[in-house]
Amino acid sequence: MKNIPVVMIIFGGSGDLAHRKLYPALFNLYEQGLIHDNFAVIGTARRPWSHEYLREQVSDAIHETHDQVDENDVKRFASHFYYQSHDVTNVEHYETLKKLAQELDDRYSAQGNRLFYMAMAPRFFGTIATHINDQSLTGSGFNRIVVEKPFGHDLASAEELNKEITASFNEDDIFRIDHYLGKEMIQNIMPMRFTNPLIKNIWTSENVKNIQVTLAERLGVEARGGYYDTSGALRDMVQNHIFQIITLLAMPEPKDLSSSSIHKAKQDLLESMIIPTPEEVEKDFVRGQYLGSDNTFAYKKEPNVDPESTTETFVAGKVKFKKGPVADVPIYFRTGKEFKEKKNRIDIVLKHMNNPYGQAHSNNITIEIDPVSKIYITINGKKIDTSGIRRENLTYEFSKEEMAKVPDGYERLLHDVFVDDSTNFTHWSELKRYWEFIDTVEDAWQKENEKGNPKISQYLPYRMGPKEASDIFESPTEHWIYE
Ligand code: NAD
Repeated sequence: MKNIPVVMIIFGGSGDLAHRKLYPALFNLYEQGLIHDNFAVIGTARRPWSHEYLREQVSDAIHETHDQVDENDVKRFASHFYYQSHDVTNVEHYETLKKLAQELDDRYSAQGNRLFYMAMAPRFFGTIATHINDQSLTGSGFNRIVVEKPFGHDLASAEELNKEITASFNEDDIFRIDHYLGKEMIQNIMPMRFTNPLIKNIWTSENVKNIQVTLAERLGVEARGGYYDTSGALRDMVQNHIFQIITLLAMPEPKDLSSSSIHKAKQDLLESMIIPTPEEVEKDFVRGQYLGSDNTFAYKKEPNVDPESTTETFVAGKVKFKKGPVADVPIYFRTGKEFKEKKNRIDIVLKHMNNPYGQAHSNNITIEIDPVSKIYITINGKKIDTSGIRRENLTYEFSKEEMAKVPDGYERLLHDVFVDDSTNFTHWSELKRYWEFIDTVEDAWQKENEKGNPKISQYLPYRMGPKEASDIFESPTEHWIYE
């Protein structure tokens, strides 16, 4: 693997994301030689840490995520880390940061390459981008920026943020990260769809009855009540993860596997996305909030949540496209907190076919993303002892040994940033369409709230969300496959 020279600046270097995801991922890339002698990482945050303390933190992060490591490697890796106490709202601090970046660039022969990572609360993204530009923090080599989710709160704020970032960075150098795109089974959607005639030929409007995407979380909002109450399930999960998955499921086949061809295929699909009317929002969307149990709070009683909150902890909805192989096929999705289990899964439900046996089920293709990773197709055959029909799964799965080798999404995606591959990042044109859709639903809900008495289903915790989620299907023969 090529050694990429770079000075990386992490805004939010003392945060949870940096500790649990970024430092372990960088270590794995270091072990593979992608970043080696010519790299330095500056961790920044407000706290008065020393370089040494940050190195201890980095080393702890690696021990917490790896069973066995070579201690000399950990030490050598951590020696590339530097800490700069930095308040992102203080202009003078950017001057100090710039000086340190330049010094490290010289010391590590980083060739003027800079990678900025915004691992902080989203309200700071615009401020940081503006200061990078105004205080000229960019280097003389490549300049890339990784922006965490959420990218904006609605289309207007996303446009504003995009303007601030594009003042210093070209679209090709902006990596809007969505770690779902780094997951093994999400990366499996395209090869599965496009290399199997068995699957590709039935992935059409003629054969697919509906598609269902479920991202179920077991936990409630926990300590994040304050933030979550300003966001909700639609913005937190649908605007990014669910739409990215749906795009991969519905896009036409790209001309080739280049990043530009893949983004072009996605863009063609998204231009044909049908934005719902307020009446359709009322009919095709369900929002909910979890109730309490013996030892858990109801959402409205969670710390830092408005007791009158109308923020949804569950949403189910529908989207359709005018173009692509599954044009006009309903794609249903649901996501929420306090489901019965944590599970991310996709079900492709095929149309029923008349047959002389009458009672046979139609086929489904299921992609389980987390916590297990597998694909299975339900298939009918004969029961051994009667002429009845039995149903079995044809399964594609990984061995335990293989699963142990699957890199974390952050490792994959950071790798892609270093090698300048933007295939698995969100382009502005895609993000814009996602926000247009989300804003329409949010506006319809807001109007309903203003009228008083909004329809927000209260659901029992640790089940499958509100029962009203089953009312959004177009036909009485449709139902959630995952129950
Ligand atoms: P966090 O609260 O743990 O960390 C925030 C960091 O920002 C800390 O280092 C804090 O010291 C620093 N900070 C706060 N105010 C500052 C200021 N004025 N100047 C300088 N530094 C300041 O947050 P997190 O969980 O690490 O999340 C960071 C980003 O990553 C968010 O956008 C979040 O949505 C996204 N994200 C996090 C996770 C995760 O697993 N934690 C997963 C996906 C996305």
